[in-house]
Amino acid sequence: MKKTISIIGSGFSSLSAACYLAKAGYDVSVFEKNSELGGRARQFKEKGFTFDMGPSWYWMPDVFEKFFNDFDKKSSDFYNLKKLNPAYHVYFGNDDYIAIPDKLEKICDVFEKEEEGSSIELLKFINMAKENYKIAVTDMLYKMPGNSPLELISLDTIKRIGHFFTNIKKQVHKRFKNPKLRSILEFPVLFLGAESSNTPAFYNFMNYADFGLGTWQPNNGFYDVVKAMISIGESLGVKYYNKSNVSQIITKNNSAIGIMVNDKIINSKYILSGADYNHTEKLLQKSERQYSKEYWSSKKLAPSSLLFYLGFNKKLKNLTHHNLFFDTDFNLHSKEIYKDPKWPSKPLFYANFTSMTNSHTAPEGCENGFILIPIAPGLEDTQNLREKYFDIVIDRIEKITNQEIKNNVIYKKSFCVNDFINEYNSYKGNAYGLANTLLQTSFLRPKLKSSKVNNLFFTGQLTVPGPGVPPSIVSGELVADLINKSNP
Ligand SMILES: Cc1cc2nc3c(=O)[nH]c(=O)nc-3n(C[C@H](O)[C@H](O)[C@H](O)COP(=O)(O)OP(=O)(O)OC[C@H]3O[C@@H](n4cnc5c(N)ncnc54)[C@H](O)[C@@H]3O)c2cc1C
Repeated sequence: MKKTISIIGSGFSSLSAACYLAKAGYDVSVFEKNSELGGRARQFKEKGFTFDMGPSWYWMPDVFEKFFNDFDKKSSDFYNLKKLNPAYHVYFGNDDYIAIPDKLEKICDVFEKEEEGSSIELLKFINMAKENYKIAVTDMLYKMPGNSPLELISLDTIKRIGHFFTNIKKQVHKRFKNPKLRSILEFPVLFLGAESSNTPAFYNFMNYADFGLGTWQPNNGFYDVVKAMISIGESLGVKYYNKSNVSQIITKNNSAIGIMVNDKIINSKYILSGADYNHTEKLLQKSERQYSKEYWSSKKLAPSSLLFYLGFNKKLKNLTHHNLFFDTDFNLHSKEIYKDPKWPSKPLFYANFTSMTNSHTAPEGCENGFILIPIAPGLEDTQNLREKYFDIVIDRIEKITNQEIKNNVIYKKSFCVNDFINEYNSYKGNAYGLANTLLQTSFLRPKLKSSKVNNLFFTGQLTVPGPGVPPSIVSGELVADLINKSNP
């Protein structure tokens, strides 16, 4: 007899778990509250422009490839990938930017121009990061369901114990003097949701992901990955239901037995939630929740974001596909996200223009744009504030890249804290889940299996391994394995 499982949400972790569980013989149904599948990686089209709503940096292509290989497929069976060159631009002021090329040797040349001797230091640093990548991603990630501290202990990690007790910032500052190079090397850990001064140096494997493996782009945008995963799931019999809000997890004698979907009861043997962890526990009776209000408020969340999806009626110049605007004080913005949460006085921001690589994502002669300002979760979010920051970032892009763009905006949509809460049931409007700090790593993160309700499991960026698309895909595999083991 088939074992039934209902999955709440259709983010990457849910899509991944659905495929692994269906392959293992489960009868899988996915319930998503929104009209589109894909969670934070949804896509929308408006006035001829195509916008990926969330992730845009395709890093760690090996993790994506492993997922497809597990189903006897390759990413190229579903989409074409292009390695971006330049990978990205980092702007430091008017007419002052560094372009990061697609290969380490070329990046060394760029570093050497900024700081004499830095290319030798860079090679040493990236070699060390490469070893950590191998240990973390190739050897450990898939074996760490976060049950015990012992999962972290191996001969390799013991040898590198020092990397857990110093941080990325210190490690980078020791090796590089130039402030521009320092901020470029501190940037990749922002994907883990925490400051470089609060992220163990072991996570420098993200620098290898950046400079060693490169930045890639699927031909129709990130949504290609969502479509590919759904197509694998469908071929294995997974059923996907959109506009299906789950309002309750039904339990009997301490076991989950079903969910309430749009006021209808759906029974199944197992329940797995890929929705935000805190929200999922609210679907249970109070006594069935593992983590208290105080637990959540004591946690370091990854940032929220103010986002703008923009359509321009002309082609833009002096910009590339991915652009980081680091022309203001990195430390001040960081402080205003983590230590003293408030709207940033001088925001750093990120802008992408996918139509520069994939021209069909904008009408002919036009450009699509996506702007992201990281902000502290839980901030007040009003239309006036959004407009204030829109003016700030557009003025900065105009000045720094020496062109007029404000009057060329023919489509504009913003997305911020309130939308993250309303559209994804996100705790405090976080964009990337729970930060990966030393005290929120592995067995110190919310668990994949409920300790209070039998047959109830969790996956996604708030549990193990952490924020980002590759970790979410791995999270789906880890939880599918755990469910399978608990039901041999
Ligand atoms: C703006 C932005 C930019 C990002 N950039 C990058 C990047 O460049 N590279 C990268 O690797 N990562 C990036 N990330 C992070 C990455 O997108 C996430 O870590 C990942 O997509 C999270 O997947 P998930 O499975 O945890 O869940 P989510 O994507 O959060 O999906 C959870 C789903 O559950 C649904 N749900 C919630 N409650 C219910 C309910 N009651 N009933 C039914 N459904 C429900 C939600 O609607 C949602 O669809 C970015 C994230 C954001 C927001």
